[in-house]
Amino acid sequence: MSSSKTWSPHADLVVRHARVHTVDLPIEEARWGRTDFATYDDGYVAVKDKKIIAVGPGDGGDWVGPDTDVIDAKGRVLLPGLVDSHMHAQFSGEGMLNIDLRDVPSAEAMFDLIAQRVAVTPAGQFIQGQYWNELLWKNGVIPTRHDLDKISDAHPMFFMRTCFHVACVNSKALAAAGITRDTPDPAGGTIGRDEAGEPNGILYENAAMGLVQDVIPPLTEEQHLQAVENIGRLLNQNGITSVIDANLSFAQMRAYYQALRRGRLSYRARFMFYLDTATGDVPYHLRRLDEMVAVTGFGNDMLKLNGIKVTLDGIPATGTACMRKPYKHMPETSGFTTITPEEMRAIAVKGATYHWQVGVHTIGDKAADIALAAFDAADKAHGPIAENRNYLIHMPYPHEDQLDIMARLNVSNTTQPSIFHLMGENVILNDEQAAINMAAKLFFEKGVVIGGSTDHPVVPCNPFLGMYAAVSRRDSDGTVWGAEYRITPRQALVMWTKNSAYFSHDDAVQGSLAPGCHADMTLIDRDILSCPVEDIKDTVVEMTILGGRVVYKAG
Ligand SMILES: [Zn+2]
Repeated sequence: MSSSKTWSPHADLVVRHARVHTVDLPIEEARWGRTDFATYDDGYVAVKDKKIIAVGPGDGGDWVGPDTDVIDAKGRVLLPGLVDSHMHAQFSGEGMLNIDLRDVPSAEAMFDLIAQRVAVTPAGQFIQGQYWNELLWKNGVIPTRHDLDKISDAHPMFFMRTCFHVACVNSKALAAAGITRDTPDPAGGTIGRDEAGEPNGILYENAAMGLVQDVIPPLTEEQHLQAVENIGRLLNQNGITSVIDANLSFAQMRAYYQALRRGRLSYRARFMFYLDTATGDVPYHLRRLDEMVAVTGFGNDMLKLNGIKVTLDGIPATGTACMRKPYKHMPETSGFTTITPEEMRAIAVKGATYHWQVGVHTIGDKAADIALAAFDAADKAHGPIAENRNYLIHMPYPHEDQLDIMARLNVSNTTQPSIFHLMGENVILNDEQAAINMAAKLFFEKGVVIGGSTDHPVVPCNPFLGMYAAVSRRDSDGTVWGAEYRITPRQALVMWTKNSAYFSHDDAVQGSLAPGCHADMTLIDRDILSCPVEDIKDTVVEMTILGGRVVYKAG
């Protein structure tokens, strides 16, 4: 836009009459939870060439020329564009291509939604959906292939239950997968059958569902682009301008570059390249890293290769997170890791060799021990690794000895207080675990960078719910866990701005409203730094601006 006009001393955009929370402070302050950044009660932000050129009190009138767009914020509150440092953005956007069966009140209502989709879908093309739950229905019966065949026998169908452990499919899908009465149950899965032994269209567990999923064609290029647009809309509605998108495949990375070229990208994405043990063993992935020419930092302002993502353990509810002590609700186990400590070390050393950033999913405290030992070994072999900004993802039970290692090796953590608030896990933990569960304060006390995130689509990508949970330490039943670990609203805001920008090496240009930063801004309807704590979670985003361009406007 600026190339077509002559240079002028004026701004492209001025947002004025806003209460501006600048979050303008260096990471060396932010990491310790210090928050003495400037606020301008009636302030402005001036933008030129997608960057902020001035911020201050007053209306910024000196920057306004004949070609300047002016937004009057009418006293509402302006924040830096919010950053989510761990989520599954494209995965969520792809899910939105399918039929959303969440909250459908009956099987008939589900069938109606499917019929609507069938009506606009060419024969032969897969119809997919997820999140149905027969326990919400009067008859409580899982649909069979006979129910679905009545809607269409020309479209193969696959519908995942809300738990992701059960699916129902129609006859066309069974035929596509070659499932007949003679097909044996795969190891770890069950093919549902009627009294006559015929498959009834209900599939249990990944092993059985995978028989059909394997014949669903990969997304087309246009579907990939739609997925990026879908999630972009949702992120912008939530005030988010930048995310670290974990577990990306090469096809998904390509989709991002296509979306950017075609003007269909409305957020900054930082890629985590996934070492997925479902697609190959660790030696295979280490060889792929040897072959890659790009490493952490490769890309541009909008899209950037961030790091490699490793999943080291599972989740507490199923007893698959690797813990130091046995579970309260499953005393026979303390969980396990999905790769060995030796493999984790090999990945950490490989990362250090090429200056890759390494992000590790660790939920159990023992898993965190293993990841940190691997980072320590990498530091000794190819250090210092501090500049690589390695990090742990989740780490809900931080212990002092672990935080000391993290401070020494500059290993950060990205946490999801909305999960703490919504998922009811505290009741299956022992008291000590529940008290420290996702306690951001413990990280601030050691100067370990703690970033805010949601792990969306595990929970909604609403950053204000996460901030509320970190500040209140209250779960959705109203119970407060570990009140002594409450943080201030200012610290919570730092988690979703400056600190989260640190994970993608963007903290100098992102997460603050300051000259030289990307012109990413979020305008909200209330002052989350001074309103009653209970009101933070109900914050409404009025406008989201990315690089000086309005990408979302309420109403
Ligand atoms: Zn995740």
